[in-house]
Amino acid sequence: MPDLSTLGRRVRHFRTQAGLTLDRLGRDVDVAPSQLSLIENGRREPRITLLTAIATRLGVTVGDLLDEAPPSPRAALEIALERAQGGSAYRELGLPELRPTRSMPDDVLRTLVGLHRELDRRARQAIATPEEARRANTRQRLRMEAVDNHVPEIEALASEDVAAVGHAGGALTHRSVSLMAERLGLSIVHADDLPHSARCVLDLESGRIYIPPASIPGGHGLRSLALQAMAHIRLGHGEPQDYADFLRQRQDASYYAAACLMPETAAVAFLESAKRARDIAIEDFRDAFGVTHEAAALRFSNLATVHLGIRLHFLRAGGDGALVRAYENDGLPLPVDVTGAAEGQILCRYWSARRAFARTTRTTEYFQYTDTPVGTFFEATQTGTTEAEEFSITLGVPFEESRWFRGRETQNRAASRCPDLSCCRRPDAESAERWGGRAWASARVHAHIFSPLPQGTYPGVDDRELYEFLESHAGEPR
Ligand SMILES: [Zn+2]
Repeated sequence: MPDLSTLGRRVRHFRTQAGLTLDRLGRDVDVAPSQLSLIENGRREPRITLLTAIATRLGVTVGDLLDEAPPSPRAALEIALERAQGGSAYRELGLPELRPTRSMPDDVLRTLVGLHRELDRRARQAIATPEEARRANTRQRLRMEAVDNHVPEIEALASEDVAAVGHAGGALTHRSVSLMAERLGLSIVHADDLPHSARCVLDLESGRIYIPPASIPGGHGLRSLALQAMAHIRLGHGEPQDYADFLRQRQDASYYAAACLMPETAAVAFLESAKRARDIAIEDFRDAFGVTHEAAALRFSNLATVHLGIRLHFLRAGGDGALVRAYENDGLPLPVDVTGAAEGQILCRYWSARRAFARTTRTTEYFQYTDTPVGTFFEATQTGTTEAEEFSITLGVPFEESRWFRGRETQNRAASRCPDLSCCRRPDAESAERWGGRAWASARVHAHIFSPLPQGTYPGVDDRELYEFLESHAGEPR
């Protein structure tokens, strides 16, 4: 059944085409003209018997009347205007409803519909302002801290899914990931022309997961991407309603992928044994499951508090010292802005996450004890570089938990008084005296994670690019 508005317009279209007045058609199908008028205006749903009588009298089929397409470009505009005026965004304005009368020129109608579209686009864009994104990010971080970064439901789902393809432990192979996809009726397709704004595309109609070409055999990133796409289906995600919803879906999908790559039972067994040997090291955990250092450190944060009783913090910092991602349930005083957001804030230069950049040998983890106003922490940091910048991944724990970790005998020690500005942000009096008013510098524009994103159904993904991509691949054999 099409919507009543479209149905009514189709009835009117075929009636005027047949050259019949409302009165005449009403007489012929034995119904009052006023009733017909209500149907044509989309205000009443006709019984199927009446619809059949109308179709017969107009020389068309019931299917013609029930077709979901507007009967003419003019009708399409009228329907678009009605829908826009019926939406909550327009109702909030408290303006009267404008009915598209026959005397209203097409141009006027087209302009009104165009304005409504723009109004709608702007409303959607406002949802993803940096401000809103930061607040949503913070709420999500606090929500995860409250549950010690552990989600039992997703753990159970991932354990079930990897067990179903016979995976017990060690690195999850590409083959196993393909088998998992098959169980969902999906096939993994490598495409070298993915939209620039997307790292992975799921075509629900043809059952394909498009991911980039496997340029690095055995690369962990591709398995993770495919698993995140499957998570979309396994976790029952729909189109995100707002940025917070988008963020939650994305984090749940990453969680699912990580829980597949490092399944709870096998991962906990591995970590418990390392703890017994007092030799916990993220690099070992990473190597045992064939994942990146960041994935291993994050996964450790999912499991360590609930299963090993260890509270901790996780930091990803950029080479400029700005925090890209953070989690803590051990009381580490993260730098935050007035909204409570930590992402984008500059970390104390004495913390391990920044001091590790100064090292020349970066093949192994850097260890350090950091004294802070709330106590001493033991931290292990691994640095790395992407094409764009260098970064560091830090896993830290309160001093008393350092006894379980490799590197605890380190002599590296630093004192931090942050967030006290005199710790590392405010220049000392002498150099302020020396340089104040005698220098000028131009700031590097921070390519921030929340910079304006192209607006589409999914924040950051350009719908046009996405649909063009899907279109170009749609006809390919599976
Ligand atoms: Zn500091």
